[in-house]
Parts: sequence; structure tokens; C-alpha cells
Amino acid sequence: RTVHVPLGERAYDILIGHGLIESAGERLAQAFPGRRFGIVTDMEVAQAQLPRLTSALQAAGIGHEVVVVPAGEASKSLDRLGDVLDGLLSARLERGDLVVALGGGVIGDLAGFAAAITRRGMDFVQMPTSLLAQVDSSVGGKTGINAPQGKNLIGAFHQPRLVLADLDALETLPPRQFAAGYAEIVKYGLIDDEGFFFWLEENRANIFSGGPARAEAIARACAAKTRFVLADEKETGVRALLNLGHTFGHALEKVTGYSDRLLHGEGVAIGMVLAHRFSARLGLAPSQDGVRITRHLEAAGLPTEIGQIAGDKLPVEPMMDAIAQDKKVVRGKLTFILTRGIGQAFVERNVDPEAVRAFLEEMSA
Ligand code: NAD
Ligand code: ZN
Repeated sequence: RTVHVPLGERAYDILIGHGLIESAGERLAQAFPGRRFGIVTDMEVAQAQLPRLTSALQAAGIGHEVVVVPAGEASKSLDRLGDVLDGLLSARLERGDLVVALGGGVIGDLAGFAAAITRRGMDFVQMPTSLLAQVDSSVGGKTGINAPQGKNLIGAFHQPRLVLADLDALETLPPRQFAAGYAEIVKYGLIDDEGFFFWLEENRANIFSGGPARAEAIARACAAKTRFVLADEKETGVRALLNLGHTFGHALEKVTGYSDRLLHGEGVAIGMVLAHRFSARLGLAPSQDGVRITRHLEAAGLPTEIGQIAGDKLPVEPMMDAIAQDKKVVRGKLTFILTRGIGQAFVERNVDPEAVRAFLEEMSA
């Protein structure tokens, strides 16, 4: 399956299928003749997937170098960026050569940003190996690292030349990581595609067991993200809808210390339920929709309540601080993605912080 991203001169394809890493040698040799490749990956992916790629490149006679960083969000740092730049430059990669991001969203963001700034911009290829990276972070051209002041504060828009989403890579992805990525797939249905959400309800088991619905779910999710990116490449308007569930989700990630206790996608799962419940409480959405979403996410093995993570009461004040920091208050109001129901999300810039506080207090009671 192919999803085309028609961004004029920077247009590219997202290929989704089996064996794409094995066939990458021929494909890259054909698309980028005579070029060398700097592969960036993390230690876990290096163990699970890198040999497939290096033997494919070797077989095709393609020159390549490998830079490995530790696995995990902590690698989206200036220090690890320095290691990657050092690796790419020491390998004498030239401006016409390519960076390959082989890994999850951490590697895509880090390697993509390194490509954006090395020699004033090198081409790069995304080979996303986590479900989250295949359906979300590898699409759209946002790259970057974290700063001590906050997540993703240093970065650049830099579109890849090609995305190879190999379904076989998901075979070694830990199940908890798979479920976390699935939350982002559900998100696209909840934003503006009720039919897709219903289809996910029908096909969830097949998607989790690796049946044919998995490729379709990934392709539909990529197509959905592409639609938003095209409508709004630099995120000034509708792309904000992709943040459904993320305001609450980020706040939960923050109060749990960005730790193993809560993966990003798990925070988004809880956040989407909270966004629906909050909308219902404001009289905007039917409350059955929140119940239906909760049921689906639970069946997918995702948490839907903060109690499942924190074990006790929702820490309302730290949540409010995190929300105010994340969204910054404009004239005393917050911007939230609210909804009128499944598939009917919208941007609301006029949310009273006190209403959010009251809602969170109710949820934590
Ligand atoms: P990740 O890259 O840390 O991957 C999760 C874990 O799975 C890691 O330990 C990794 O080593 C492991 N892993 C990945 N693929 C594997 C495989 N095939 N087999 C075995 N292990 C594998 O995290 P993620 O969830 O993929 O991505 C999260 C990151 O993505 C965050 O930093 C977030 O900010 C970023 N993100 C970026 C965008 C964007 O538009 N650029 C969008 C969403 C998220
Ligand atoms: Zn997300």
C-alpha cells in the first residue's frame, strides 16, 4: 500500500507492507543512485531490526554507516544530537547523501532533526519501526529534540524523501508499545471519521493479531494524518485537531514524570476519554460516546482512567499547572480540542480554566 504526500517539490510516498526492509537495498539504490546512507537507530532496534537493513544494503552494494544511541525519550537531547552529528560528519557523509531513521518516534525526531541541520540540510528516509512512528511521527515533517525547558522545543520542519513502514518490524515491538501506538490510530477516527472508528471496533482483534486489517488501519491512519498535514503544514489551524486527548495526556505524562508508568499513547488514551467526558459535561457531546470509546480502548489493553496509573486521586493542581504551561493561557482562557461526539472534534479557544478544574476535581473524587 502507498500513501502519497503531494507537497509539491517535496512530495514523497509512504510505503506500507511486508519485507520493505529486505527490499530497501534495491529500492534505495534505484531512488538515490550512488549515494551513501547514515543509519541512525537505538540500541533496542539495533538488536531487533538493524541486521535486516544492513544485510539488505550490503547485498545491494550500498555504502552505509551506523550511529546507535540509547533507547528511550532521553535520547532526544542536545548531547545525543551531538553524538549523531559527530557520527554523520565523521563518516564523511556529504550533502547529497542520506540519513536513515530506523526506529520509533524518538529516532525519527532525532535523526530527522540531525538531517535538517547537517550540512544545512541532508535528505532523509524514515523507516519507522514502532506503530506510533508508522501512523503518526514519521508523517508530517516535524523533527526535533527536547530542552530542559520542555518537550520538542528545539526542532525544524523537514520532510523525508521516502517513508518505508515495514509491517514485519512490528513483530518485535513490545505489546504495550503496540497498544500505545494504537491509541493514535483511534484518535483519527474520533477527530473526524466516525466510520473509521466503527471499522476499528469491528477489526480490532484482527489488527492486534497481525491480520490483513493491520495494514489497512495503518494506511488509513497515515492518509488521515497526511490530510491534516496538507491542509496545514505548519500547524496554524486544523492540524491542531491532531492534539485531541493530548492536553490532558501531556499533563498526565508530566505529573507521572515522563516515566514507564505512562507511555505517551497511554496518556493519549486517557486524555481522549477525558476530552469526551469534559465535552459531555459541558453539554456538547452525548455521554454514551465516552462510554463507547472507553470500552474500545479497554479492549485494546489501554488504560482509560488515571486511577489505573497513579493508583490514587488525580493530582488536580499539578495537572492544572501542566495544562496552563502546555497550552498557555490567552486572556484567561485555554484552548482545548473538544467534541460533539465520535468523529466531531473541534478547536475551542475559549475554555474557562475554572471549568477544567471543576471537571478534574469531579473526576478525582
Ligand atoms: P520510541 O521511539 O522510544 O519507541 C518505543 C520503544 O520501542 C523504544 O524502546 C524502542 O527502542 C522500541 N522499539 C521501537 N521499534 C521497535 C521494534 N520494531 N522492535 C523492538 N523494539 C522497538 O517511542 P515512540 O512511541 O515510537 O515515539 C515517541 C516519540 O515520538 C516521542 O518522542 C514523541 O515526541 C514523538 N512524536 C513525534 C511526532 C512528530 O510529528 N514528529 C508525533 C508523535 C510523536
Ligand atoms: Zn501523540
